[in-house]
Amino acid sequence: MSSGMSSYALSYMVLYHPKLVLPRYGNSSTRYVDRRDPVKSNPIGKQQDKSNTSAGRGCDRSKIDTVTIHIMELARNSDETRFDGVNAHFAVLRSGTVLHLHDESEYLFASHDFNCRSIAVEFEGNYPYKQQNNGQYLWWSDTYPTPRSKQDGPTVDQIVAGRALVKYFRDRHKIQNIFAHRQSCGKVCPGPHLWFNIVKWGVEKLGLNDGGPGYTTSNDHCSGSIIPSHWRDEKWAIDLSKPFSNSTFSGPSPTHGSICIPP
Ligand SMILES: [Zn+2]
Repeated sequence: MSSGMSSYALSYMVLYHPKLVLPRYGNSSTRYVDRRDPVKSNPIGKQQDKSNTSAGRGCDRSKIDTVTIHIMELARNSDETRFDGVNAHFAVLRSGTVLHLHDESEYLFASHDFNCRSIAVEFEGNYPYKQQNNGQYLWWSDTYPTPRSKQDGPTVDQIVAGRALVKYFRDRHKIQNIFAHRQSCGKVCPGPHLWFNIVKWGVEKLGLNDGGPGYTTSNDHCSGSIIPSHWRDEKWAIDLSKPFSNSTFSGPSPTHGSICIPP
């Protein structure tokens, strides 16, 4: 970057030029892939833009001030062609790749009461739970029968990419708030790992506002829940200097929630 280039200009170039990558944090590189055109030509993707609905028309998308963090509750081996149906503006894959799915100006039914003001970001993956005697990891419910080994929990590259993206939103869109979907709808989403390593990081390192410990909101369709106090425990911290290992996780699993997005 030349010394004369502002961080605004750099951020603009970085995200709107598909050949360039997002800023680096730590030792991981973050790849940006623009999927907006494929999503527009995808029947599901096309339907997701609600800008012309009565709800969407009432929102001034030039006044976005929030990013809302979600977990997909699914993983597709970070195949960048398989997330066009995800109902969010951006998807952060376990590989560290950032997919741009919808223009920030679009209004999506993604984050309940935060829809008007926010950019929705979905992270690929499932909630990690615990290792069983057979060495496999289960999803977050004891009764859920499917082993989800290797695709549970966020990866280091994913956290690095997510942080770069949040920083971009602050620099480019002047985002002031970073919320969990849970705060607008009574789901687990996005779970303690993403909350601790993305939301709490955004508050502490970027000066963003998470609404505070008691903050929730609601609309006609859903009411939010506060962030559980144990989500603030250091045990959820992911060490970005080490490859991700599920075995680093312990502690309580999130309670059952409903799925953020259709598969
Ligand atoms: Zn969600």
